[in-house]
Order: sequence, then C-alpha cells, then structure tokens
Amino acid sequence: MEHSAVVIGSGLGGLQCGHILSRRGWKVTVLEQHSRIGGCMQSFRRGNATFDTGLHFVGGAGEDGGLELLFSEFGLMDLPWKRLDGEEVCIGGQSFFLPSGYDAYSEALCSYFPESTSEIADYLAHLSQVEKHHEYMDVSAWRWLCDTISDPLLRKVLSGTSLKMELDADRLPLYTFARINDAFIRGAWQLRGGGSQIAEKLAQDIRNMGGEVLSGKKVVALESIDGAVSAVIAEDGSRYCPEVVISDIHPSCLLAMTDKVRKIYKDRVSGLDNTKGLSTVNIRLREYAPSGENRSIYVHGADVDLWRPRADVLETVGISFGEGTVDLMTRTCFGDADELAGRCIDFVSCRLPWLRDAVDEYFVSTPRTYERYTGTPEGSAYGIVRDCNDMMRTSLSVRTPLKNLYLTGQNVGIHGVLGVTKSSYRTCEEILGKKI
Ligand SMILES: Cc1cc2nc3c(=O)[nH]c(=O)nc-3n(C[C@H](O)[C@H](O)[C@H](O)COP(=O)(O)OP(=O)(O)OC[C@H]3O[C@@H](n4cnc5c(N)ncnc54)[C@H](O)[C@@H]3O)c2cc1C
Repeated sequence: MEHSAVVIGSGLGGLQCGHILSRRGWKVTVLEQHSRIGGCMQSFRRGNATFDTGLHFVGGAGEDGGLELLFSEFGLMDLPWKRLDGEEVCIGGQSFFLPSGYDAYSEALCSYFPESTSEIADYLAHLSQVEKHHEYMDVSAWRWLCDTISDPLLRKVLSGTSLKMELDADRLPLYTFARINDAFIRGAWQLRGGGSQIAEKLAQDIRNMGGEVLSGKKVVALESIDGAVSAVIAEDGSRYCPEVVISDIHPSCLLAMTDKVRKIYKDRVSGLDNTKGLSTVNIRLREYAPSGENRSIYVHGADVDLWRPRADVLETVGISFGEGTVDLMTRTCFGDADELAGRCIDFVSCRLPWLRDAVDEYFVSTPRTYERYTGTPEGSAYGIVRDCNDMMRTSLSVRTPLKNLYLTGQNVGIHGVLGVTKSSYRTCEEILGKKI
C-alpha cells in the first residue's frame, strides 16, 4: 500500500520533507494556513521590485559547505544564485571587509589584526572542523570566544555578522555560532528574484510527483487513537487521515491542537524561550541610485555589546542589496513604521550616505508582522532558544509522544536554510528508519 503523509506548514522544512518523501513514492499533502506558501521563504513584489522576508543570504554552498550537495537533490541549485564577495562589519566608523573563502578570510583578518595571527589561525581551525564536533553544543560560544581571542575589537568583528543568529553570552552554543559562521565563510549566496522561487519549485515538484500543496488550510486540531494521530483537522472542516504527520510549525502551537499529549511534555515545550523577532525596512530605490554592493554589511554603534543586545536602543543594522532595492534589518523595535525606517536609514548613513536621498518607497515589517503571517509566537526569527547549559531540556527531538507525529523546521535544529535543510533530512530519516 502507498505510504501517506500530511505536512502541517509549507515553510522550507515542511516542503523539503514533502519533497523527500514524494521522491520515495509517498503520497504527500502539505497544508498551509496562509494564502501563499513558503513561510519565511516568501518574497513579495511592489512595482518592479522584489523583496525577501526571511531569506537574504544563504551560507554553506561552495567550498564543501554541504548545502550545494543537499540543495542539488531538490533541484534548487538550478535557481539564479549569486555568490557574494563576502561580508563587511562596520563598528563605530571602522570597516572590516571579510571576503568569502577560508584563505581570503584569514588573510584579511590577519591584515587588520597582525598581532593576533596565531589566535586567528586557531579560531578558524576550530570553525572549519565544527561539523565533527557535536560536543560544542554544550560549550558557551561567548566563553570560548573570550578564551580563544584576546583582542576585544577582534572579538567584536568576529561576532559582527551577528544578525544571522541571536548572540547570547549566557546561552548560545558554540556549535551554532561555529556552524553558521563556518557556512558563511565558505560562501555566502543570494537568490536573485526572491526566496519564493524555492517554495514554488519544491511545491511544483511535489505536485508533479502526485502530491498536493494546499494553501488557505489552517490546521486547528489533531485527533488521536492509541497514542497516534488519527486525523488532522483544518479550520474549514476538512479531515486528513495519513499514516504519518509532520509538523513544520512552532511546536507549542502544534501541541495546543491536541489534548492527547502528556502535560509534562507540553509544559516543557511551551516553557522554552523563543529568539527575538527582527524588523525589516524594505526600500525601493529611485532609478538614479548607485547600484548595490555584492556583499552584506553589518553596521554597529561604537559601544555595542553584541553578546548582550538591547532591544530598546538602535545599535545594529544589517544591510542587504537587491536589484534596485536595499533591505535594512534590526533587532530593535520601537515607534511606528516611519520612525523605525527613518532611524535605520540615518543609522547606516555613515556607510551609505547616498541612501536617504535615493529612497523611492519603503515597507516595514516587525516581529508582529511575522507572527501574523507565520503564526510563530512573538514573531520569533530563529525559533526556540537552545541553551548550552541545558541542552537536554532546550533541544527537541523530531519524535513526539504521539508515535506517528514528527517535528521538523528550525525548532528542531539550527535555524536558517542550511540548518532547516539538515533537519528535514533528520526528520525523514526517522520516519523512513534509515539514513538517506
Ligand atoms: C526577518 C528574518 C530574516 C531571516 N534571514 C535569513 C537569512 O538571510 N538566511 C537564512 O538562512 N535564514 C534566515 N532567516 C531564518 C529562516 O527564514 C528560517 O530559519 C526558516 O525559513 C524557517 O523555516 P521553517 O520551515 O522552520 O518555518 P516557517 O518558515 O516559519 O514556516 C512555517 C509555516 O507553517 C505555516 N503554519 C503555521 N501554523 C499553521 C497551521 N496551524 N496550519 C497550517 N500552516 C501553518 C506558516 O504559515 C508557515 O508557512 C530569517 C528569518 C527571519 C524572520
């Protein structure tokens, strides 16, 4: 008999799981609450400009970064990827350009910090081997950084691309810090034309393999018999009775849909902290604006404490360039949309003095926007916070107490495209009972 799976949520994790199982002959149905699929992969158009929401850069393709291999299985490497030259960190007016590729990255860092050459070599040697060191999960990234690097400015530069993860001096595991930085040093990429192409490609393939990807299908309840999900119920009353259910939504939202899971597990999951949300100012530029730069830029105030970020003070803004567009991202949330946009534009004027006069129109999203669109509590950007001091409690297995219900997506592993892709394989391996 044909195996069947329902996937709740059409974010990257949900669509990838649907794709992996479809390729193995499963009948897959993906249910998405929103009118558009893709979750944080969504992009949107305003006039002739395309803006991304939760996909600005991807790390880990090229130089054995791992992503290329994984993405080629989904046919995603055929999309119009563009390799960035590298990343730039600006702190209090000083600029540090960090080119892609370990050799070039190391050479640039050593030229900025000649006194720290051997510490830099040690730091990069650890990062490049991170894949083999899962024990780094129990090590504090901040404590390790302080033990490895003595120059405080160098520590700031190495942490300065920080918006890609939530730096937390007390909790962030070294594994997460090293894995993400390693991936971006190997190669940072951008998808020309927007992240929706990823979702559309995965969904089209699932349909071509006989599956369904349905939007406007909010799942509101799970029925269960004998410790397994027997039916998935959507808000419009439709019922689905698959062999396996995969959830790509925030686990605490999932568990609210069933009373057949023990309270102790529910309390543990709903008690976990979530990473903070991000605000984004998507700017469409006037026609005469200078063309964008082929790099991501992170601008920080001189006194920023990157490992103890403040939500109420504007101290960090990330910049990403598209075709005729600039996106500004910050963890700070204050005032209304116009105030946020105005202050972010002023903040980066030390690096992009032309920007203020080049703005044609802008659109602002805040954590509340993400909460509304994806249902993720508090509009958390990167899901559940993993605590290196308490990994047992703060990391979730892809298995749940209901035997045919599995988790995937950013809440069961590292966030971001590389992390979610790896989790998709982990979830499907658990379902299929073998390494794939
Ligand atoms: C502002 C921002 C910028 C980011 N930038 C980057 C970046 O540059 N590079 C990078 O690699 N990562 C980035 N990320 C992180 C990355 O986008 C996420 O880690 C990843 O997309 C998460 O995918 P997911 O499948 O886990 O979940 P999601 O994308 O959250 O998908 C969950 C899906 O489930 C749906 N859903 C929720 N509830 C229900 C329900 N009841 N019924 C049916 N469907 C439901 C939602 O609508 C959504 O479509 C960024 C994130 C944010 C927020």
